Amino acid sequence: MRISAEPISAFYCHCADCRAANGAAYVGVALYPSSAVEVVAGTVATYAIRNLPRSFCPSCGARMFARVPDDDITGIVAERLPEGAFHADFHVHCREAIAPVRDALPHYEALPPAFGGDERTVDW
Ligand SMILES: [Zn+2]
Repeated sequence: MRISAEPISAFYCHCADCRAANGAAYVGVALYPSSAVEVVAGTVATYAIRNLPRSFCPSCGARMFARVPDDDITGIVAERLPEGAFHADFHVHCREAIAPVRDALPHYEALPPAFGGDERTVDW
């Protein structure tokens, strides 16, 4: 996978969909313009647990990315990024969290205003 842009945003997502798709309590995600994310070797397979199409490598099973339909946005799981490249700005969907993370980042109940949500946060 080749990424030819800086991330638009990066965060930890605590939603049930991301937890189920990744088998984790929460997931680091960095958002990029879809046009900047290119598969340069092999193929990817895509599935959806709920609505978000998620792509993985059919050979090794590695989770790769999720393209947000109709939005030219691709979310790449932090583990697929080069070491040291992931720097989260906030947490999202914290009201669904099963493993609260106490750190200095904002913890939005759902999504922040820039993503169509609001300023409400949880008090961890
Ligand atoms: Zn999520």
